[in-house]
Parts: sequence; C-alpha cells; structure tokens
Amino acid sequence: MTKKIFWSVFLVAMVVFLACFGIIMAAMYGYFSEIQSGKLKDQTDLAVHGVAIGGLDYLESLQTDEYRITWIGEDGDVIFDSAVNTADMDNHADREEVHEAQLMGVGESERHSSTLAIKTLYRAVKMDDDSILRVSVTQYTIFSLILSMIQPILIICIIALFLSFLLAHNISKRIVDPMNDLDLDHPLENDSYDELLPLLTRLELQHRQIAYQKEELNHKQNEFNMVTDNMDQGLVLLNAKGIVISINVAAMRFFRTDRHCIGKDFLFIEYHPNLQSIVRGALEGNNGELRMERHRRKYRIKVDTIRRDDQITGAVLLLFDVEQEDLAEQRRREFTANVSHELKSPLQSIMGSAELVESGIVKEEDRPRFMGRIRSEAERLVVLIDDIIRLSQLDEGSELPMEDMDLLEMAKETKDSLENKAFKRGISIGVDGESVVFHGVRRMVSEILYNLCDNALKYNKENGSVTMTVTKEDSFAVITVADTGIGIPEEHLGRVFERFYRVDKSHSRETGGTGLGLSIVKHAAQFHGAVVDVKSKEGEGTTFTVKFPL
Ligand code: ADP
Repeated sequence: MTKKIFWSVFLVAMVVFLACFGIIMAAMYGYFSEIQSGKLKDQTDLAVHGVAIGGLDYLESLQTDEYRITWIGEDGDVIFDSAVNTADMDNHADREEVHEAQLMGVGESERHSSTLAIKTLYRAVKMDDDSILRVSVTQYTIFSLILSMIQPILIICIIALFLSFLLAHNISKRIVDPMNDLDLDHPLENDSYDELLPLLTRLELQHRQIAYQKEELNHKQNEFNMVTDNMDQGLVLLNAKGIVISINVAAMRFFRTDRHCIGKDFLFIEYHPNLQSIVRGALEGNNGELRMERHRRKYRIKVDTIRRDDQITGAVLLLFDVEQEDLAEQRRREFTANVSHELKSPLQSIMGSAELVESGIVKEEDRPRFMGRIRSEAERLVVLIDDIIRLSQLDEGSELPMEDMDLLEMAKETKDSLENKAFKRGISIGVDGESVVFHGVRRMVSEILYNLCDNALKYNKENGSVTMTVTKEDSFAVITVADTGIGIPEEHLGRVFERFYRVDKSHSRETGGTGLGLSIVKHAAQFHGAVVDVKSKEGEGTTFTVKFPL
C-alpha cells in the first residue's frame, strides 16, 4: 500500500512538474516570437524608408549582423543582399513572401533549416518602383531552445525528481503510519481515520467471536485430552498430510515424545519403516495393523483411515499393550489344561474303581473300601467344580449385593463352621481383635476367611493353633490368619496365589485341596480393593494378612 501511494504521488508530482515546465517554455517561446516578429516589421519599415531616400547607397552603408536585407528587382533578380554575393543568387520571384508582396504589397513567411533547430522569418514589402525589399531574421526553434538549455533543465529535472520523491515519501508515510500504528487487539480504542471506523467495529466483533470460539475449542480440547489421557491405549490423530493433531499420554510414553510433536509430521516422532508404511497406507485409505515390541513390552498398533463425506481427512493410531492380553490368554490356556487334568484324575479313579466292582474282581469284603474311594473322589470333584464355578463368577465380575458387616462377627462364624474339623485334628482356633464394620459382599468376605482358615487347618501340625485377628489400622480393616503349621518355603511364596498351584501336590490332595483356594481369596480381595500379603517360615507357621480399605 505504501508503495502504491508513493508511486501515485511521485508520478503525479512528476507529471505536474513536467506539464508546468512545458507550458512555461511554450509561453516564453510564443512571447519572444511575437516580440521578434514585431521587431522584424519595424526593421523592414525602416529599411523601406531608408531605401526610398538613399537607394543602394543606404543599403551598402548599413552594418547589420542580426538582420539580413535583400533587395529584389521587379523581375525577381536580386539587386542587393547583405549576407550573400548577389551574383551567386538565383531569381527570387518564386519565394513565398516575395510573391505575396508582389500581389498584396506585404508578404510574410517562415522556413525551417534542415535540422529544424533554426527557423528564419521573412517579411517582404513592395516598394513604389515595384521592387521588393525583404528583411529576414533567424530564430531558434523551441527544440533548439531546449537543447541550448539542457544543462539547467537537467539540474531542474533532478531537483524536481528529488522533491517529488520527498513529497511522495512524506505523504505516503503520513497516510500509512496511522494505519500501521493501529492496535488491532483493541480496535475500538484507536483514534484513527473516520473511514476506518466500520472496519474497526467489524474487527472488534470478530475479535469477540474468535475469543468465544477459542474458549469453546479449549474447553472441548481439554475435555478430549482428559478422556484420552486416561485411556490405557495410546491414541494418535493425524491429518490428511500425516501431521500429528492430537496425541494422548499413553502414546507419548510409547513414542517417547511430548506434546511439542503436535503440528509436526508423524515421521518426526516415529521412523519405524513398517509403521510408517502402514500409516501411509491408512492415509491412502487402507487400514492396517502391526505388532511391535517397545520398551520390553509387546504392543498391537491399529491404524485406521478417517473419512468424511468419502474424503480421507486423516488417520487414527491406536496402541494396545498386549502384554497383559497375551498373559491373560496364556493363563486361560493353562487354566483350561489344568481344569481338564484336575477333573480327569478323580474321574479316572472313579471309573477304575467302578469297573473293578462291576467286573466282580473286587471281593465282597473289599467292596465298601472301593465304594468309599468312589464317593471321596466324587466329593473331590464336587469341591473342585464348586471352586471353579466360584472363580469364574469372580472372573465375570457379576454384580453382587453389598452390605455392612462386622468382620469380627464373621471371623467368629468362620471359626464356628470349622470348629469340628479343627477339633478332629486337635487344632485350636482363636478369634481376637475388635469389631470393625466393613461395607462389602458378605459371601466373598466369608469365602476369604473360610479359605484362609481352612488352609491354616489343612497345613497345620498336630496340636497346632490358628488365630484370626480383626483390627482397624488408619483407614483399613485388617484381618490376619496366623497358624503354627508347616509353613511355605520362600521360593513358593510368590506363586501360591496362582490357580492350581500347590507346594506339595500329594499333601494338598490328601487334605482335599484343589489349588484354587488362594486364587479365590486373591480375587475376592481385589474385588474390594484389598491387598493380600503372606509371611511364612518353613516349619514354624504362616500368616496371611488382608487389608480392606474402609
Ligand atoms: P489348596 O486347595 O491346595 O489348599 P490353595 O490355593 O488354597 O490350594 O493353596 C495353594 C498352596 O499354598 C497349597 O497347596 C499349599 O501348599 C500352600 N498353602 C496355602 N496355605 C498354607 C498355609 N497356611 N500353610 C502352608 N501352606 C499353605
């Protein structure tokens, strides 16, 4: 804009200057031409008068350089010429001014030199004797005038150029400066041209709209970030050009980057060739999937195209940590294999005994023993199936009724239900501590207590003891089940909560264990947000602690 104003003012100034200069030159030239033709007329009249009195002598006595006087006879032959020898001159009867004077008494004409630089003015007057007296004067043309003044003209041109430049520069600056100094953040606080007021008002309005939209956008972005940042899966959104437009915390952790990667090409944050080619594929409309190992964990990356109205507008990357998935899958497979194995052994035993009885091989007196074995194996099967059902119910996480319960009361109930079993083995059970009310699923808490107490009995020694304690520590309800039994060797401590894990298979089988009791305890505890801890010393005893958050 400044340039445009500058050039407009500059050109106008130059044109005005040149026009003024041309007009002045033309006026001056006209004025001087008029003076000169007046002087030529006077000189001609004087010469006519002089020749009429003094004849040829008068002409020869004249000393004139400025004017040229020519006397031409009636027949056109030159009688006298002040500049050229008459012998060299041809007949002048056909000269325009001479011919005109012969006809009208006075004749005038002007002729230009070959270069157009000089112009000659002629005035001829017819004398009484019909001869013609002609006076001429040479005059510079406007062209030669300019040429003769070229130096001062050039100087004036340069000055004019300079002045035009200064003028144009100042004017354009004065026009543009107030616009450049506008405070666009507060449009209506400017004291500028009245003509700009509608524009500034509009700007103010747009400012407010933008501020409102920005706030809305921030709000939405924060909401979006809050949701995506709490996701376990990584999430990256790319636009159609492969530029990162959003990334959540899990994905930043995976790519070891931060939010600064937003606005950069995805290539800058990850250059793994396979992932790159899948991302490129998704941006061309082909969804893809890839498994990758990163930070010693296994991930599955799903890259999908985002479309709007059949147009590809970007791609979304979802990163799943499949380490847990794989582990869970492996556990499920192991569990299935274990279940089949555990079910098979008692069934085989039942079938074997039944076959023997059926075939009559078993003597009459041995029959009760075989039938007893069939019953005890069938009982084992029932216990096993019960445990499996309980565990799968916990796995499903089905909604169970929650209620307030006194843990000390429940410990006492558990003691009561196991008292008989303990008595048979000569083991004493004691309940200690204070009454603590806990809000949870009664059946699950009861199972925790029962399984822990049952194990404490099963893996105890003769005349041993079991002590259940209920206490309140800070904001936790703490239950401990301590026994004076065989203990758990240290190397097994970390695994006793695994499904079907048993330290001593035969001992566990003898005592009717399924290897699922502690898994149920752990699951039920986790359901309540509780933590189970175990401390044991081989040959001395074991203590299980469950900490329920209140
Ligand atoms: P099980 O049905 O075999 O008792 P659990 O899951 O209840 O299965 O226990 C897993 C294993 O942990 C048991 O087989 C046993 O070896 C060990 N164990 C559990 N509780 C005790 C305890 N109080 N004292 C010693 N060993 C225990």
